[in-house]
Amino acid sequence: MNTSQPASLIDRFGRKVTYLRMSVTDRCDLRCIYCMSEKMQFVPRNQLLTLEELIRVGRAFVQLGVRKIRITGGEPLTRRNILSVFEALGQEPGLDDLTLTTNATLLPRYARALKEAGVTRINISLDSLRPERFRHITRVGELEKTLAGIDAALEAGFQRVKLNAVVLKNRNHDEVLELTEFAASRGMDISFIEEMPLGVIEEHDRAEAFYSSDEILADLRRKYELVPTTESTGGPSRYYHLPHSGTRVGFISPHSHNFCAQCNRVRLTAEGRLLLCLGQEHSVDLRHVLRTQPLDDEALKEAIVNAMDIKPKGHDFDLSAKPVLLRHMNMTGG
Ligand code: SAM
Ligand code: SF4
Repeated sequence: MNTSQPASLIDRFGRKVTYLRMSVTDRCDLRCIYCMSEKMQFVPRNQLLTLEELIRVGRAFVQLGVRKIRITGGEPLTRRNILSVFEALGQEPGLDDLTLTTNATLLPRYARALKEAGVTRINISLDSLRPERFRHITRVGELEKTLAGIDAALEAGFQRVKLNAVVLKNRNHDEVLELTEFAASRGMDISFIEEMPLGVIEEHDRAEAFYSSDEILADLRRKYELVPTTESTGGPSRYYHLPHSGTRVGFISPHSHNFCAQCNRVRLTAEGRLLLCLGQEHSVDLRHVLRTQPLDDEALKEAIVNAMDIKPKGHDFDLSAKPVLLRHMNMTGG
């Protein structure tokens, strides 16, 4: 690596990587039907990156020009002592945004401390406001706990909390208006996500349960005039303003709208595999570098820079084919 150049991560297609998603555990206190199979095999704990290793990787990325880190999982807040990772990265000069994706069940315990640690924004997954349906989708969850977590995030002073809802036909597609109105009533944003074919699941046929962003948009437009915004996050999201509110409605549409040309992100699995694309298997084993060179951050940075050469041009998700990607979303970090 030429250290006289300002550090930055640029791939073969000229895309600059400024955003890292880190999965800090593959475990979770819920079992959402689109994310996990009923009986999941989790990674043995000694194969997960340690908290210190997670911090080391996060710092290396920031030194290489990454400006945003999202902590995800599995359920990040179920990892013991995870606050130390937020506290360390929250202090990192150059990191503009430290964000969290969570199912919110543990936010009553953690929201305030996360705010103090420097977390800038929180995304909360919520697919239904009906207790029985919420239980069905999460298999084991209680709606009340997630709602209490949402309250805790708002009370701790987080601005622009965003709800994420995966929409499945005949399971919750008829609730998109209620979810949007709930978000608006609490001053939150909301994004609707098309299901991605990650891992084998048994609850439904993914092609049969597909409900497109365009259908959701049409459903919402029966009541509201949604105005498109021009902003881009470098990802698969498109945003609209809900009139007479500050609420933005987003659509994450890996199937119906290809976003790969602007991709600015990479992902780290809980085992330390750096994935260059959510929809492909191209990866580099950073755990190996971390453990064989425990004191050499330059070697770590060099491995990260070199990994940019194998970032693929794009994903090729196909709902009608058998899943080619055996890893579930809890491994990858959504
Ligand atoms: N446990 C946390 C949560 O649920 O927010 C963080 C991890 S979860 C894997 C991150 C996001 O991925 C959630 O919003 C979840 O709904 C979404 N997700 C999980 N499996 C998915 C799939 N197969 N397709 C699309 N989104 C998925
Ligand atoms: Fe857990 Fe999040 Fe996956 Fe649901 S989507 S099972 S909450 S990791």
